[in-house]
Amino acid sequence: MDRPALSAYPPVERWDDWEEYDAKAWPKRVRRRYRLVPTTCFNCEAGCGLLAYVDKDSGEVRRFEGNPEHPGSRGRNCAKGPATLNQMYDPERILHPLHRVGDRGDGKWEQVGWEEALEDIAGRIGKALAEGRHDEIMYHVGRPGEDGFVERVLRAWGVDGHNSHTNICSSGARTGYAMWMGYDRPSADFAHARFILLLSAQLESGHYFNPHAQRIIEARQGGAQVATIDPRLSNTASMSDFWLSPWPGTEAAMLLAIASRLLEWDAVDHDFVRRWVNWEDSLQARAPDRDPTYENFVDLLKETYRPYTLDYAAEETGVEIERIEAVAKGIAAAGHRFASHTWRAAGSGNLGGWQVARCLFFLHVLTGSVGTRGGTSPSAWDKFKPEHWNTPPPSNQWNELIWPNEFPLSHYEMSYLLPHFLKERRGRLEVYFTRVYNPVWTNPDGFTWLEMLKDTERVGLHVALSPTWSETAWFADYILPMGVGSERHDTMSYETHAGRWLGFRQPVLRVAGERDGQSFERTYQANPGEVWEENEFWIDLSWRIDPDGKLGVRRWFESPEDPTRPVSVDEYYGWMFNHSVPGLPEQAEKEGLTPLAYMRKYGAFEIDRNRYELNETPASADQPGVERDGKRLSGFTSPSHLLEWHSDTLREWGWEEVSVPTYVKSHVYWRNLDLEGNERILVPIFRLPTLIHTRSGNAKYLYEISHGHPLWINPVDADQLGFETGDLIRITTQIGHFVMRAWRTEGLRPGVVAASHHMGRWRLEEAMGNERWSSALVDIRQTESGWMLRHRAGIEPFRSEDPDSERIWWRDPGVHQNLTFPVNPDPVSGMHAWHQPVRLALAEPDDRYGDVYVDTTRSHRLYQERMADTRPGPGPDGLRRPRWLTRPLPPAPEAYLV
Ligand code: SF4
Repeated sequence: MDRPALSAYPPVERWDDWEEYDAKAWPKRVRRRYRLVPTTCFNCEAGCGLLAYVDKDSGEVRRFEGNPEHPGSRGRNCAKGPATLNQMYDPERILHPLHRVGDRGDGKWEQVGWEEALEDIAGRIGKALAEGRHDEIMYHVGRPGEDGFVERVLRAWGVDGHNSHTNICSSGARTGYAMWMGYDRPSADFAHARFILLLSAQLESGHYFNPHAQRIIEARQGGAQVATIDPRLSNTASMSDFWLSPWPGTEAAMLLAIASRLLEWDAVDHDFVRRWVNWEDSLQARAPDRDPTYENFVDLLKETYRPYTLDYAAEETGVEIERIEAVAKGIAAAGHRFASHTWRAAGSGNLGGWQVARCLFFLHVLTGSVGTRGGTSPSAWDKFKPEHWNTPPPSNQWNELIWPNEFPLSHYEMSYLLPHFLKERRGRLEVYFTRVYNPVWTNPDGFTWLEMLKDTERVGLHVALSPTWSETAWFADYILPMGVGSERHDTMSYETHAGRWLGFRQPVLRVAGERDGQSFERTYQANPGEVWEENEFWIDLSWRIDPDGKLGVRRWFESPEDPTRPVSVDEYYGWMFNHSVPGLPEQAEKEGLTPLAYMRKYGAFEIDRNRYELNETPASADQPGVERDGKRLSGFTSPSHLLEWHSDTLREWGWEEVSVPTYVKSHVYWRNLDLEGNERILVPIFRLPTLIHTRSGNAKYLYEISHGHPLWINPVDADQLGFETGDLIRITTQIGHFVMRAWRTEGLRPGVVAASHHMGRWRLEEAMGNERWSSALVDIRQTESGWMLRHRAGIEPFRSEDPDSERIWWRDPGVHQNLTFPVNPDPVSGMHAWHQPVRLALAEPDDRYGDVYVDTTRSHRLYQERMADTRPGPGPDGLRRPRWLTRPLPPAPEAYLV
């Protein structure tokens, strides 16, 4: 494995019997013996390896450390990985299935058996399927586990019911990448780069924090420079060579000015551009009267971007010319060894934000740093997706509640509009699963979600699959306790570097027990209480939906050995590791192991490394590809298999004006705001590197580090508005207001205020409804004009099985700002644009810290206004959506036709 030496890890051959002194017993020397069981972190999508230290005497996990055998994380973790221990031993976690009694949301629950819950849920689904009400079954995921597992289940049921959180997360950036190359995410080869450009630190301080951060550090040790574009001085920005703090939403202007410099300096890899850009089609589309020569295409590029001078960029963004120019020179000098990344941030903050990723990738196209060592590749080159056993064919359903015709190019499901769609009676839901997902808290306009979830006519049955309480689970009919990251099976692979690996998340107590000679039919036999793992849940639920096989569902879940019983996870993953992971069976055989036993032993497998320039890979005549110099090559997954400067898709679907990389002015464009008065731009989506949206609330290790939620405000603004640090401020959005305390800091540009999106958790009952380590006790009431949330108490110590709960010393639960944001869909990408134009004022006499007020009638009106900006399908050939644009659960080709 390509990793710097780490010497402090127990060697694999001693993982079954590792002995060390108990640090907590110091100064006594108390020996402890452990089994070390590898698994995979579930606390962000980077999928780092973990090693569980299972105490041989007590059978408990004592701690989690990094798995040195994991090719992505190489033994390292961020703070969130070891905090898996807190999630396992949270004294307040839900250990048994709960069923609502009384009205939904009233907080009255009874413990029920799994049998009863499964029968009820399966009965409703089976009836809906038998009656052709397929669109009434919906699964809504927050943190995804394994690629393809639930998609396979939904296929078996024949429903188009996959809904995800991606359109409140990353689909802005994804759209920008997809319109260039088909692939919708980047994979930066940070370790070998000479210049690294990060658009905001969201990614490197949140998702991918550890695997990317460690490689960026290696690059810097080798002399690379790092530039971070972020209105806020993030941890990453503070460690960068350049911090560029633009007006939010102007990032594309800066990137196009850099592109224009590269063109003027001729710092362009013409061989690459001529070979891999769709320049002939672009010229034909944008300047049909010119001769179709490459030189004319370059001239067209220069003319198109000449207005983006450094002066213009500096004026528009508020960043000094010298800094922009220095970054442009750094990129030009790096050439093929230029790596970059944008995720969330500008792409998800602004209407038109998807163009930021498109403009960023333009710099790679010009410098030829696409797919190179030290450059940036499509993510799919560096992420491995194994095949699933016995996969059903795609369904021919198209669910308009998820893929409405107003957003034919939306990169992912229009999930956050669901309550508005139900309000308009576009449909109803018979069974709605939320899975490690908390839309009432996470999504914009959460009170509209709350209204929807309370409505038992529109949502027949809400099943929350969750290890813990949450604001959304409170409004469920069933809460079914699912295992945390160390209590379940998943395969994981992500683009952490220029190589592919597959990680195996496994239930560590089950695996440790099996090594001790115990046997388990189901993971819940080893997990605490009656906590299930999801894979077994879906298998067993599918059996019950179709007990006699008449619906055609059951057969996809029958054991290959014995069709009279459900498939086991060992059979499932045994097939996968035997049949679809290149090199794994051979490697396992060398050690005398089955592929499954190998993955159980190491927790990860490196498939290959140094994957560069795969666009040059030969393609056979029956494979997708493109002719280049007489050879058929793989190219990219765009419609032309080239990199598309001009996108015919955008033109054909009504978006000609943005069919090339373009600067789109944001809904928070600074010149349109009353900056002389009290209007400012709120940046509400920055991450704290030590918290997770709604899954770190019970992680005492993490809350002890991060437990404050101030409104960042530059002293220039604070002086103008008369704010001091600690003052209570009322922040008014388009649909309501919230109240938090000011923090004067020069860590963000004037004109912008910011609040992290991690905090503001709440519960409605003292000892139930959310984690007391992190949440406020609140009252919620409906007034004539809207909803009001008020804190009754902040975080306080409480008595539990964990003595640390009585030692809680932090008090600030934060403020639930997302409630006050109207939905704001980008008409192209479908991404919710998070940044807010807000008005700031000192709090009014009756205001209290944490107050939130929202007018949901107004939020629905704003939703309708935004819908009026859409350009609905169908598009060419009567299609609902271009077939080449990916979907997580693609239906059969005929379903694309209206
Ligand atoms: S970077 Fe993500 S996957 Fe890795 S340890 Fe941190 S939270 Fe876990």
